[in-house]
Amino acid sequence: MLLRCDLNVPLDGTSITDDGRIRASLPTIERLRAAGARVIVLSHLGRPEGTPDERFSLAPVAQRLGELLGVVVGLASDTAGTSAHASVVKMTDGDLLVLENVRFNTGETSSDVEVRRRFAQELATLGDAYVSDGFGVVHRKQASVYELAELLPSAAGLLIETELRVLERLTVSPERPYTVVLGGSKVSDKIGVISHLLPLVDNILIGGGMVYTFLAAMGYKVGGSLLESDQIETCQRYIAEAREQGVNLVLPSDIVVGAAFAADTEHRVVDADELEDTPFGASGIGLDIGPQSSEVFAQYIRESRTVFWNGPAGVFEMAAFANGTRAIAQALATMHGLSVVGGGDSAAAVRILGFDDSAFGHIATGGGASLEFLEGKSLPGLEVLGWP
Ligand code: ADP
Ligand code: MG
Repeated sequence: MLLRCDLNVPLDGTSITDDGRIRASLPTIERLRAAGARVIVLSHLGRPEGTPDERFSLAPVAQRLGELLGVVVGLASDTAGTSAHASVVKMTDGDLLVLENVRFNTGETSSDVEVRRRFAQELATLGDAYVSDGFGVVHRKQASVYELAELLPSAAGLLIETELRVLERLTVSPERPYTVVLGGSKVSDKIGVISHLLPLVDNILIGGGMVYTFLAAMGYKVGGSLLESDQIETCQRYIAEAREQGVNLVLPSDIVVGAAFAADTEHRVVDADELEDTPFGASGIGLDIGPQSSEVFAQYIRESRTVFWNGPAGVFEMAAFANGTRAIAQALATMHGLSVVGGGDSAAAVRILGFDDSAFGHIATGGGASLEFLEGKSLPGLEVLGWP
C-alpha cells in the first residue's frame, strides 16, 4: 500500500523544528497498519531539484515517525530504486517503510506529463493500492500526487477528509459573525482568497507584510516597508468592493516601525498614516501591527463564531515583532466557535509562541492547498480521486 503524506517539516540541520505535519499524518498510518497493510510512505521534503541531496533526506522524519508510533520504521535510501525494492520485499503485514524524498527524482515535479507518468509507473510497481493523504500537495499536479493515483486503485486518507470538512465549514454557510484575518508576506499570494471570501464574511482584518500595499492604496506613505506597487490598484478595488458589500475591511491604525530589518533594530510605534514621520523616515520598515490594532483585531476575533487566519501579523521570527501575531493567536485560542489557522508559517508561529494545537479548532497542514480551495480553484490531487 503506497501512502502519499506531506512530511515536509521545517528542519534546522537535521533537527525538526515543528513536527505538526508528521503528527497530522498518524491517524491514516495507524488505520492502515491496524488493517494489516504494509504501509509504504511517500513524501517530499524541501526543494532538492530532482537529485539526491543529503540536506533534504527524510531520515530525521522516519526517525521521528518511529518515536511517535513507538515502532521501527524502515527507510529506503532511494525512492523507487534497488533500495526501495529490496526494503519492500522484506516487509510483513503492519510494517511501515518510508521511501526517500520523491523530489530526489526529476520525474516528480517535471512539467512534462510523460516524464511524470514514467516515474509514477516506477512507483506503482512498489504497491497494489494508493492512499493520498498529503493535503499540503493536493494543489500540485505531481507524479506521486496525481499520475500515481491514475495508475492504482486509490482513495483519500483521513487527513484530507478532515481538512476538507473544515474548509467546507469555512465556505458553506459558515456560522457568523465570520472574520478572516490575513497577513504574511505578499498580497499577491492571498488576493484570490479575498475576492472569493468577500461575499461570505463580515470582517477582513489585514496585517503582516501585505498590509503596506493596502496602506499605500489608501494614499499613505509606507517608507521602506514591504510594498507590491503592481498590487495597489487591486487593493483599492477590494477596499471599494468591501465597502459596497458591507464588509468591514480593517487595517491597523498603528504600526511598529523599525530602522532596519533586524531582530535588534531600534523601533517605535506610530500611527499608520505617519509611517515616514519617524526618526527612520523613508527607510523605516513596518515590522508588526501596533498594540492598539492588536486589541482591535482581538476584539473582532473574540466576537466572531468563525475565524480563518492565514499569515502572521508581523515578523514573528524576531521577538520584538511577534506581539501582533501573539495577540491574534491568543484571541483565536479563547474565542467561541470555529477557529482555523492556515499556512505553514502561521502554524509554525503559533507553536513557536507556545500555543498548543488543541487551543485551535484546526491547524491546516497545507497553506497553499487551503488557499486554493478557498479561492474556489479545483485541486488536481483531489479531482483525480473523484473528489468532489
Ligand atoms: P503562511 O506561510 O502562514 O501562509 P506567509 O508565507 O505568507 O505565511 O508569510 C510569512 C512571513 O511573513 C513570515 O516569515 C513573516 O516574517 C513575514 N512577515 C510578516 N509581517 C511582515 C512584515 N511587516 N514585513 C516583512 N515580512 C513580514
Ligand atoms: Mg509561508
